Amino acid sequence: MAADSPTLTPRAAERALNSLALDLLWSWNHATDALWQQINPDCWNHTRNPWTTLNNASRGHLKALLGKPAFRRAVGDVMAGQAERLRRPTWFAQTHDTSALSCVAYFSMEYMLSEALPIYSGGLGNVAGDQLKAASDLGVPVVAVGLLFAQGYFRQELTPDGRQQALYPFNDPSLLPVSPVLTKEGDVLRIPFRFGQGHVWVRAWKAIVGRTTLYLLDTNDPANPPAVRCVTTQLYGGNDDLRLRQELTLGIAGWRLLDMLGYQPDVCHLNEGHAAFAAVERAHGLMQRLQIPFRQALTIARAGTLFTTHTAVPAGFDRFPPDLLRTYLSNYAKNQLDIPLDTLLALGRANPEDQGEPFNMAWLAIRASGAVNGVSRLHGAVSRRLFAPLFPRWPESEVPVGHVTNGVHTPSWDSIEADALWTEAAGTERWRGTQEGVADRIRALDDRILWSTRCQARTAFIGKISALYADRQSYADAAGLSGRPVPALSPDVLTLGFARRFATYKRPDLLLHDPERLARLLSHPDRPMQLVLAGKAHPADIAGQELITHWIAFSQRPDIRGRVVFMTDYDLALAEILVQGVDLWINTPRRPWEASGTSGMKVLVNGGLNLSELDGWWAEAYAPELGWALGDGREHGEDPAVDAAEADAMYTLLESEIAPSFYARDAQGIPAAWVARMRESMARLTPLFSANRVVRDYTDHFYLPAATRYHARLADGGQAAYDILQWQDMLDTCWPQMRIESVTISEPDGQRHVAVSLFLGHIPPDAVQVQLYANPIDGGPPFVTTIPPDGCPDANGMTHYTVTTGLDRPATDYTVRVIPAHCGVAIPLESTHIAWQR
Ligand SMILES: *Cc1c(COP(=O)(O)O)cnc(C)c1O
Repeated sequence: MAADSPTLTPRAAERALNSLALDLLWSWNHATDALWQQINPDCWNHTRNPWTTLNNASRGHLKALLGKPAFRRAVGDVMAGQAERLRRPTWFAQTHDTSALSCVAYFSMEYMLSEALPIYSGGLGNVAGDQLKAASDLGVPVVAVGLLFAQGYFRQELTPDGRQQALYPFNDPSLLPVSPVLTKEGDVLRIPFRFGQGHVWVRAWKAIVGRTTLYLLDTNDPANPPAVRCVTTQLYGGNDDLRLRQELTLGIAGWRLLDMLGYQPDVCHLNEGHAAFAAVERAHGLMQRLQIPFRQALTIARAGTLFTTHTAVPAGFDRFPPDLLRTYLSNYAKNQLDIPLDTLLALGRANPEDQGEPFNMAWLAIRASGAVNGVSRLHGAVSRRLFAPLFPRWPESEVPVGHVTNGVHTPSWDSIEADALWTEAAGTERWRGTQEGVADRIRALDDRILWSTRCQARTAFIGKISALYADRQSYADAAGLSGRPVPALSPDVLTLGFARRFATYKRPDLLLHDPERLARLLSHPDRPMQLVLAGKAHPADIAGQELITHWIAFSQRPDIRGRVVFMTDYDLALAEILVQGVDLWINTPRRPWEASGTSGMKVLVNGGLNLSELDGWWAEAYAPELGWALGDGREHGEDPAVDAAEADAMYTLLESEIAPSFYARDAQGIPAAWVARMRESMARLTPLFSANRVVRDYTDHFYLPAATRYHARLADGGQAAYDILQWQDMLDTCWPQMRIESVTISEPDGQRHVAVSLFLGHIPPDAVQVQLYANPIDGGPPFVTTIPPDGCPDANGMTHYTVTTGLDRPATDYTVRVIPAHCGVAIPLESTHIAWQR
């Protein structure tokens, strides 16, 4: 491929190493691993962090290496190989080359890309990081914005009796794989920004993620007062005031940074409501560019903005007291947006008139977006219920929230063994295109290959867990925290994994519901199991921390030792080890609170199976030939009796189905039924729950239409947006006078005729649509059909509408309604009026 690239000079080779170490591509592409191994084997084996490895290398050794032509050729080959791959046409270039989409700005509070860049807590960051990597693979033009947290999220240590200690090591930016953003002149770029009155210096850092770039903002500039420097210290720490200032920095300063760097995004993707101020600042930029008022600018901006919601409970939305917004946004509203503060506050309220209502970031995000989606099919439905207050009188099924079920970046989560298996079966380009044919190639694999790969991965896993445990234990010993011997896991035992945030809704204690029964399962004489656990509880979540203590106590029972291991400090590196090694991944959330869940998806590529509550992604993925399900697929709230019944059902499944299936071996020693499930789960689910599929879905169904709508509204100085505002204002004024005068239904000759007389007053007929509506049957979509006008208004000012339908449902099922209509406008997102037949 690049074998004949010219040998680099030592200086060029050193520059090349720097740029390779700064490209987080190494977190999923292992072409450079051998270089780091040569440069600084100790540090590399310990950290797997090229940037740290390079920075901590002995200068003498590095110089000697760079003096060797063979080493320089190896560096040159890797560089040339990566450059060649960057030049290859991507999925996006091949399929959407001529589209209106040139740049998607992606905003998220956290990104989980690598343990080398510890600025994440968990699921949300995982989704953002994996999507960024998949966008790079697919060539989707994404630029991402986040915050560079000086301490990230807390790190976990446990006392011998299992009490969680929260640690906050400092992230030295010069030792993270990021570089400072400079101006053209080479000066440090500082983004002009204010918190209320106070001027703030915001700096930015750049992380390269293959083809995509992530910009990270940071207020820890010595020129700022201490309270400002601390704004980007901790992720999900502090109070409302801190959180609001983080969100203002992310959204407002973040959008300004893109503007200063010359980006002109067509689409802005808000990953959770935290980032909603980006959409407001986007409108501010358009105000200045087109010399138009805020409302018109927001009407343009929102057409190109997508809001992805991730929470399944109202308490998950960030809400701020109005006074706090007054402190920080009065100036911004008055001097920059040229609107009264109340107008801005109204965007974050369900009832714009209610001065006392807190400011809800999700409401703001909805009002500033042209499309909204949840992160699984079930979560889409749950979100429609949560957002229903913003769409009064609309049926819940028509609350405008769709869904894109999450997926994981497969190349980041596969084991070496699984990677080899998939490469052999489906080639090296399998995750960079449409994944077509991949499933069939996996279905064609024979039992022996699948099972031996699984067993190799389990053995490797046990080695890694034991080494990591011993490593951490030796630190703990030194700190007087010892008391936990290195576990004796066995490579032949059915291995269960359970790792997640220890939040009560995730029910991390469900498996521990009946400790004696669990103990019996684990130490079964013929069909034993072993369990590896991990998880952090938020430092303020006392109940969650107690659950950890319970598990530690259980793992220390003399009859359990060696069968249950709690690994401290659940992070990406540990997650990788777990999902690659375990046979069965367990997830026990309380339905419907797990919006999607992603950890269970990470075991798919590795041939791990899932045993999970029918919630989030598993509610749509589960089939009996793929894994096992908990729960009845309904919601029961926090009912202890239901928890008990589900725990019982889980033990029974483990005992009478799962363990027997794992241990039932044929003449070759292969558990055929288990392997059959593995094969089908790998083949069917891996491509489906991949970030590759997710990013293609977002591109096809959201980014491309959003870009087109945005440009339509932007054209001619925002004329279309101006027309939309005129139409909205006209409807707001005239809607109350409109009335459905009469509805007549007749049923001659096996048909049904519906005739409607509508008094429109000053509303032009083309500003509304008249519809025949019937409620959904069996959870399907509602029946909605347009009733077209039958000529012009008559002498009494009545407009007549008629339609003919079949007789499959009784006439009483149907209702006539009138809704707003305007070309290119999302209804009811952008106009929530609706009038029903009385
Ligand atoms: C995947 C992952 C998560 C999210 O997992 P859920 O199943 O959504 O709870 C959280 N933390 C880490 C470290 C992960 O790797």
